[in-house]
Amino acid sequence: MVAGDAGVSVGRTRAYLGQCRVDDVRRCRERFGGVTLQGLAGLKIARQLARTGDLDGVDLDPAVYRNRPAKASNQLTLPGIECAPFDWIMAQADLGLPVIRTAGTRIRAGRIDELKAELSQECPVDVTVVLALDTGWLGRRHIDSLEEELRAADRDVSVLLAAPFNPVDSQRKIEALRRVLRWAGDTGRTLELLRTDLTGLPAVLEGAAVAAIGFSTSTRHVGVPFAARQRDAFNRRRRSPLVFVPRLLHWQRANVLGNLAPWDGAGVTHCDCPVCTGSGRDLLRFDTPPDDTPVDEVREHDELALAGVIRQIMAADDPAAELKFRRVNAVHRARSVASSLEVALDEPPAWLDSWD
Ligand SMILES: [Zn+2]
Repeated sequence: MVAGDAGVSVGRTRAYLGQCRVDDVRRCRERFGGVTLQGLAGLKIARQLARTGDLDGVDLDPAVYRNRPAKASNQLTLPGIECAPFDWIMAQADLGLPVIRTAGTRIRAGRIDELKAELSQECPVDVTVVLALDTGWLGRRHIDSLEEELRAADRDVSVLLAAPFNPVDSQRKIEALRRVLRWAGDTGRTLELLRTDLTGLPAVLEGAAVAAIGFSTSTRHVGVPFAARQRDAFNRRRRSPLVFVPRLLHWQRANVLGNLAPWDGAGVTHCDCPVCTGSGRDLLRFDTPPDDTPVDEVREHDELALAGVIRQIMAADDPAAELKFRRVNAVHRARSVASSLEVALDEPPAWLDSWD
């Protein structure tokens, strides 16, 4: 971490990759400065990179919390076969990774015993404790206990938040997240946010050491099962790709952006990333019939545009002021377009509007 102007330590962002190949890791490391890989598939890729001495900037989230709750233990099990717990700590230590994370189990809101158990694990090497927390921990009923347990344990932690959509979807939850950030700032403990979205940006300006940002809905938080109505709405919209919109600091469906075509994109769909500049067109080009979606080009745009926005903000003289300026602009633009043109853009996520 480096000291920011205000005396608060400024952390770093990196990419969080789910399913990926070695090429993806190399490319994203170049663009984002570092990559966090996930689970056993990620371990396999890390070992592949290690064989050629190319593991710089790569670390691992064991992601054992993704197992179904009944199996949520530090064990990889096959039906009918008892296995010894897989030693994630030693697997990471053997690779010489700069940060070693515990396996991590999913902790439901209010299960203080489970939280204590995770936080009190003893390990033979220095670790950061992975806490995959239901977003309810940020609610009024549980935030005091969460903060109390973090203080009592006094350990480095890697926090992931679980929810069907956006885990930090209200002002109250943002304030709770900021309390956790203040705990880290006050105590000098290392707090990482893994599997996050751009909410990680204000977080690294306010005390988080690391924000590992995902590019897909499944790597931007820990998913939980949908309610039936949510699933229906999701399926109706899913055939058009989500596209990162730099001017809104958020993702929108390409077919929704397409509704802005009569207004030439209404100042929303412009993008300066190399792939958009090279094509000479803006984000409206991604509104295609579902079978013609240029998936690779969307992904390329998402990565480059996201990396560009992060780089510009972090390189500003005053990153916090720059971020705030862009947040206010993004919200204003989204709201005025949605209301004056009656285009049903997704609402700006809560952090854009209510971080402070
Ligand atoms: Zn672009």
